[in-house]
Amino acid sequence: MRTGSMRVADISVSAIRKNVRRVSDLTGGGNVIVVVKACGYGHDAAIAASAAMAGGATMIATADLEEALQLRERGIDAPLLCWLHGPRVDFVPAIEQSIDIGVAHLRQLEALAGAARATGRPATLQFKIDTGLSRNGAAREEWDELFRRGAELEREGLVHVRGIFSHLANAGEEADLAQGAKFDEAVALLRAAGCEPAMIHLAASAATFTRPELYYNTVRVGVAAFGLSPFVEKNSAQLGLTPAMTLRSEVVALRGVPAGTGVSYGFNHVCEVATTLALVPVGYADGMPRALNGSGAWVTIADERCPIVGRIGMDQFIVDVGPIAGRIDLGAPVVLFGDPERGYPSIDNWARLMRTINYEILVGIGPRVLRRAV
Ligand code: PLP
Repeated sequence: MRTGSMRVADISVSAIRKNVRRVSDLTGGGNVIVVVKACGYGHDAAIAASAAMAGGATMIATADLEEALQLRERGIDAPLLCWLHGPRVDFVPAIEQSIDIGVAHLRQLEALAGAARATGRPATLQFKIDTGLSRNGAAREEWDELFRRGAELEREGLVHVRGIFSHLANAGEEADLAQGAKFDEAVALLRAAGCEPAMIHLAASAATFTRPELYYNTVRVGVAAFGLSPFVEKNSAQLGLTPAMTLRSEVVALRGVPAGTGVSYGFNHVCEVATTLALVPVGYADGMPRALNGSGAWVTIADERCPIVGRIGMDQFIVDVGPIAGRIDLGAPVVLFGDPERGYPSIDNWARLMRTINYEILVGIGPRVLRRAV
């Protein structure tokens, strides 16, 4: 960083390690795949992957092959899996870099076998099955042919079938268990076709905390590894998790203003009394939701809660620091969100105010924010 960063996301490696251990303990020491797609849920995929492996993760997963290849380029030598592929994907680099491919269609299986022929090395795959989400994954009518052909290619030495997995819709207990039953059927079919998958996984973070009957021998978690709750009604601490990201900035300008001063675009905040305004250089370009304005959101400065006032701009927002004006100066540290157990605003609160989920806020943290492993 040439100029010093005004926007930093501190990523607690020990928190990620601890969260992965917590998940592993919950499952009685089963395999834990940690999902680091979308730049590690905004935490930086390589920082997240190495912390997760240090916490005992068995494997790291991404959505796209490109994301998995970037991890290899950044020196991550952990077992990797990716599952979302476009029709023109080239699987050769995946085989060269020993990356497991999630296979959801016969055409993907044939493309993978073709890449194995081209490289002269077998490809490793995990079948991705749709059990009810109606999204990416092989539909029921594709299973028989897909598994039969997978077993055939395995006998020919072109592929190795390491696993089978599916994703839950989290639509309630009955729906989850119905998906579990459908998944059982797929696993049985795959075995009947002649494959013995070493990794069988259905549960993501939510089911890891609620459905031990769906653990099989592996769980596949994203948000829990980052210390956040997948549930609206339960927070991190209640699940024994520690949020890994603290989003920090600093005060870059301070200004005393009289009562009646309009603040930021549109003057939709007007100071009722004379006060001091602090400028913080984080905006919606950095993932701070513009609509947080007027919602009651606050940040921490000098251990105090300070309200965000006026519209959030592309690069900056304003905080009313009247009550602490005598105690702060330029450069005063600002925490936008972090671990609420340490008195910081919680990302869950932002998500609630924005009527969205913590996942969306996390992955929206922009590229100008420096990710720093701490
Ligand atoms: N597995 C798949 C296929 C996913 O798409 C995701 C995330 O969306 C996960 C696992 C991780 O989910 P969570 O972050 O809820 O644990």
